[in-house]
Amino acid sequence: MKVGVLALQGDVREHVSALIACGIDPIQVRRVNELAEVDALVLPGGESTTIVQLAQIFGLFEPIKNRIASGMPVYGSCAGMILLADTILDAKEGQKTFGGLDITVRRNAFGRQVDSFESDITFADGSTDLIKAVFIRAPWVEKIGANVQVLASVDSHPVAVRSQKLLATSFHPELTGDHRIHRYFIEEVAKPALEKVK
Ligand code: GLN
Repeated sequence: MKVGVLALQGDVREHVSALIACGIDPIQVRRVNELAEVDALVLPGGESTTIVQLAQIFGLFEPIKNRIASGMPVYGSCAGMILLADTILDAKEGQKTFGGLDITVRRNAFGRQVDSFESDITFADGSTDLIKAVFIRAPWVEKIGANVQVLASVDSHPVAVRSQKLLATSFHPELTGDHRIHRYFIEEVAKPALEKVK
């Protein structure tokens, strides 16, 4: 399985390292031909408006949107969650997303940079071990569609959600050295989805 990391802006390196730790040899995606090589994609944390602008400049916006719509497994962390959301609140005027995930997300919901925090939370992958979650100007999910499953919450706000082939977290597992979320994406989301296609 070839997994890409959208490498336009944000914490690309950290996602690359987390995927390598999961036994994947990731491809950094900056061009359409690199996107065409991958079976699944990770959208990093960073600044969602900047990532969209760069995707448009690099001619990747529509191709990524179309791949998601046609069923490519994608994991988005923080800004990546915003990029997957069908609807954003507190968006920059005219801010677009790739969409595909039937959720409404509020940007910077937990406050500004100074309000970044860490919290040990449960993640519904069958384990009772807590995950250390790092939130940096993080969004939360305000509304979910019928097919969306909540995998983790903080103060009753969903912060990890899944809808079939799409996984999103408001927090940054790529920053903690705990690769459980990346492993979950590879093993439970991407692999089964790609096996079905074969
Ligand atoms: N607040 C950022 C945005 O709207 C996301 C922050 C992050 O990825 N750490 O894109």
